[in-house]
Amino acid sequence: MSRKFEVQVKGFLHGIPVPFPDVANKIRIYSSMSILEELVPSQPIDTPITPITASNDEQVDSLAPSPESNGQAKIMSKKAMKKAAKAERYQSFKLERRAREKQMQKEKKRIKAQKRAAGELDDSAELEEKARKRQKMSGFGGKVVLDLAFDDLMSDKEINSLCSQLAYTYSANRNASYPFTLICTSLNGRTRDRLQAINDGAYKRWARTEWWDDSYERFWLSPGASGSSEKAGPTSADLDARQRSLVYLTADSGEEIEELKPDETYIIGALVDRNRYKNLTLDKANKQSIRHARLPIGKYISTLPTRKVLTVNQVFEIMLKWVETRNWEEAFHSIIPKRKFLDGKKGKGGKRSEEEEVALEGDEDAGAKVETVNGDDAGAEILGTVIQEDELLEAHVQAI
Ligand code: SAH
Repeated sequence: MSRKFEVQVKGFLHGIPVPFPDVANKIRIYSSMSILEELVPSQPIDTPITPITASNDEQVDSLAPSPESNGQAKIMSKKAMKKAAKAERYQSFKLERRAREKQMQKEKKRIKAQKRAAGELDDSAELEEKARKRQKMSGFGGKVVLDLAFDDLMSDKEINSLCSQLAYTYSANRNASYPFTLICTSLNGRTRDRLQAINDGAYKRWARTEWWDDSYERFWLSPGASGSSEKAGPTSADLDARQRSLVYLTADSGEEIEELKPDETYIIGALVDRNRYKNLTLDKANKQSIRHARLPIGKYISTLPTRKVLTVNQVFEIMLKWVETRNWEEAFHSIIPKRKFLDGKKGKGGKRSEEEEVALEGDEDAGAKVETVNGDDAGAEILGTVIQEDELLEAHVQAI
């Protein structure tokens, strides 16, 4: 259920005067926000802010300096001001986007109604559109496993980056024309804690996403097989078939994937390691007798190394794009940041060694589409905004 809040920040934040005008704008905050469902802005967030006027049924509460501040003006640190400004810009952007989307929907409906009234609506075109919508609803059919079994191999910072990448992954799936079913397996440790800490465990409400404590081995180990009786397990032919439907995606594989199939399940290693653990997922796949393959990057993009290591969300977004276009080249170009195509070319001292070339994972492109944000915390920046929103809610919002 969605709780609605409205606040007016009249030049004060945390009871502290704020010197920039943006924050003094009226902002509305929608809680329930399942904020991790609203993560990636589809356009820059520095859109001009349109002031919002309260409608009749909406009460606007003014915020005055807090009593503890005793009327004394505290000076906000530069960092706190930046943080607050960012949170405010993000809110404004979100409101604007929602309003725009609503307006577009209304317009579409109006045009359709007009056409229908004029007898211009083609029945078959309408049926086609409905079929397309149905197709979208049912998605591609394939499953993608995010293997979270590497929690203890990452630093806290890397865990944070990973959680951001998971959020980007979810967000991309949510907006995709042909989404996958996402299955996050082996959820544990600090990754679980970090996800839980954000917006009261909003990740649990992500659509089309399952969270398993178990490993993906559950795919081929029937419930009986993990219990006391070995005999209750599936036949070896069943096991083989189930195991064969899994493909571990890993940059270190010698095999290249040619196409994605709806009846196959693709595993992505959910880890950020700057390729410190070379062959980690390849070795895991081999040990479990799971097929493995890398994306056919070198085959389609001559300026990139064949074994370029990408981030979790980049790999996933490339897959989504391929499903939509059936074109690897287009998929790579639309997801891998442009400058990376140049990075793949010869450096000053001649051709890079393959070692160098593969060590690109975990770099500044965690959120491939949010190139303006630096550092491998690109996603974390956005999660940071989430946390600021929570703080804002706690500190200032009066529920109505
Ligand atoms: N050292 C890690 C790299 C992690 S990168 C490893 O051994 O896998 C995060 C994940 O993205 C990888 O585990 C892999 O599943 C996927 N990935 C990254 N680049 C890829 C590529 N070029 N082809 C296929 N999968 C890739």
